[in-house]
Parts: sequence; C-alpha cells; structure tokens
Amino acid sequence: MKSFATRTALTSNTGVEDLIPDFDAKLISFAGGLPDPKLFPKKELALSSQRVLLDGTENPLQYHNAKGYYPLRKLIATALAQEGAAEDPHHILLTQGAQQGLDLVAKLFLNPHDRIAVEAPTYVGALAAFTAYEPTYLELPMSPDGLDLDLLERALKQTTIKFLYTVPNFQNPTGFVMSLTKRQRLVQLAQNYDFYILEDDPYKHLRYAGADLPSIRSLDHSGHVISLGSFSKILAPGLRLGWLVADDPIYTQIRLLKDGADLESPALIQQIVADYLVNNDFSAHLQQVQADYQQRRDWMLSALETNLPAGWQTSQPNGGFFLWVTGPENVDLNQLLRTEIGPQDHILYVPSTNLYASKNVNNGARLSYAGASHAQIDAGIKVLCDAFRAQKPQ
Ligand code: PMP
Repeated sequence: MKSFATRTALTSNTGVEDLIPDFDAKLISFAGGLPDPKLFPKKELALSSQRVLLDGTENPLQYHNAKGYYPLRKLIATALAQEGAAEDPHHILLTQGAQQGLDLVAKLFLNPHDRIAVEAPTYVGALAAFTAYEPTYLELPMSPDGLDLDLLERALKQTTIKFLYTVPNFQNPTGFVMSLTKRQRLVQLAQNYDFYILEDDPYKHLRYAGADLPSIRSLDHSGHVISLGSFSKILAPGLRLGWLVADDPIYTQIRLLKDGADLESPALIQQIVADYLVNNDFSAHLQQVQADYQQRRDWMLSALETNLPAGWQTSQPNGGFFLWVTGPENVDLNQLLRTEIGPQDHILYVPSTNLYASKNVNNGARLSYAGASHAQIDAGIKVLCDAFRAQKPQ
C-alpha cells in the first residue's frame, strides 16, 4: 500500500463502484445510468458481427491504429454535419466510451493542483477520471438553464483554469440543458480567457421535447472546444465505443496518449458498429429508444408528483436518463440510503455527496428512470418518498 501513488488516496472513494451493485433480484435500482437491455438491437448487431467476421475484408481481428476505423469516423462526421456541426473525420478519434475521453483529456492537461471548472453537481465518473490527476476544482452551481457563468467570469478575473467540463444536454445528474445564450457566452469566455471547454454530450439524442440546440463546439471556431460523444446510451454500453472531436494540436496529443493507454479501441467492435449503421435504420431505432425512455420519465415524474413530500423538489428534464430530487437543507440522503432504505427495501439511488467535487451537499439524489420498469418505479418511488417524509434534518 505504501508504494501506491498519492493519487490513490484521492480516488479511493469516488462512489462510482456503488452505482452498479452485484445482482440482487429484489433490488430496485434507480442508481446506475444503465440503459434497458431490451432496447439493445441484439439481432442486428449479431448479423453485423457475422458479416464483419466472416465476409469482411478489413481485417477486424488485426491491429490497426489509435485514431480508429476510418469509415466509422466518416459516418460520425456525416451525422454531425446533419446536426449542423460539420467536422473533418481527421478530427475524430474513437475512444473506449466517452469515459476514456475524459481520462485522456485530463491526462493531457493536468499537472497536480492545476485548476479546472466543473458543474456542481456533475457526473461522478468525470470526477473519478479527473481526480486521479490531482486538480484543484472550481465548482459552478447548476440552474435549469446551465452553470453559473457570472461566478466563472468573476473567478477568471482572478485566476486561470485549464479547462471547463460540462454536460450541456440533459446533464448527468440534474437533467438540465444549457441555454443557447449561455453556450454562446461560455465560448466567448473561453476565447477571451483562453481555456478549453470539454463538452461531454452522451444524451443529446435522447430528447423527448423541445428543439435541439447547437453543440458548444459548433459555436466555436478557435479550437477551444473538445467534444465527446458515445454509443453507450443510444446503442449499447457494452460496446465501449465513443468518440472525441478536437482540433490540432490537441487531437495529435490525445492520439499519442491513446497509444500509451490501449493502442486503439477494439477494431472488431468499431467495424461491427459501422456495419450496423450502414445496414439498419438507425433513426428508427433512436425514435424507439426515445419513446421508451420518455414513457419511463413520465411514469417516474407522475409517481413523484403523487408521493413527493412537501418541501421536496424534482427536476423536470426534457431528455436523458435522470431526475434530480432535492430535500430540505440539512437532510442527509447518504444516511438514509445506508440505514433505512438500503438493507430493508433494496432501493438504490445516488446521493448527491459524491456528485459534488467538494462533497459538501448531502440533500440531493439522482434517480435514473432508464432501467426500471413501470411497476418498479411505482413501488420504488412510493417507498423512497415515505422514507423521505420520515427524514429529520440532521
Ligand atoms: N459522460 C456522462 C455524462 C455519462 O453520463 C457517462 C455514462 N454514465 C459517460 C460520460 C461515460 O459513458 P461511456 O459509456 O460512453 O464511457
């Protein structure tokens, strides 16, 4: 133990391992952001696997290179162009999930104690990735239209940041969306104060109402935005396939770091996904996925509307996987999870503490509706709200 790097002291309790517990048939989990396996296109992916392995001419079982399978990068570039964000495939690198993008970007920029800005609350896995590089955090509180840019601007007048991390669409954990005005102002700030924006956008295709907003990267033409995408929520997380888009010199540096991390993402998976996208109606699949999650969101919101005690609030997201519930100040939802709900009723959620870099807010909970059935939502929300009602401020 003594020979472990100092960073392990910081990463020993990120909370990520609590998100996906060992299998327990009685457990109702609103914790992990797990898509419903029923929505995975198993048959289509099996057919693609067979085509790639048996008929493919592109050596799917061979080593290739760190940038990733060019035809898939081209397909991603085409999709981005259709969304109004034209990209050169040479600026796209395929990663092992968006998670690897978070790690590589942190590895590229951070010396110990370098300052980065994060949303408060933010994605627990991002904190886990960044914290290993020992940064100093500047936390920017979230509102329904995005992070607090006044606070950011005040801070930038006094200090520098290496990058700002944001999940602009249906943020994990709040479900909030950054407004267009804030996106534009953030880009302006990045240009004026010369910091990078790390835009992590795995939920943008899971919109249930309202119109898409332009990506932050598409609003910048000065190379200040690195963006991450993922097939995890729209196809299947077991593929471990995502992408990173950046300009040079960042792109080249990230590619070199990826060489050192894993040489490349699995070529077989990249070719299977490319084949799947070419041979199937992906927008029909997306529509089906959206419709399903929208129903679960509606179901959970209405269960909360019926059961949530006075003084408790929930966000009303127009997309993504998560609802953000907050109780009166001084309620400690960690204690609740450990003592009253956990062992007895087997209901899991993510208490807010680990979702703040400062770990100092305990009265929030992230609830995921993505993986739970309507019956589980009904039963679980009822028990959870009864337990909320019984909470005494600490
Ligand atoms: N970013 C955010 C905001 C996420 O919610 C997740 C997954 N929960 C990830 C990144 C990691 O996703 P992937 O499976 O693509 O690594």
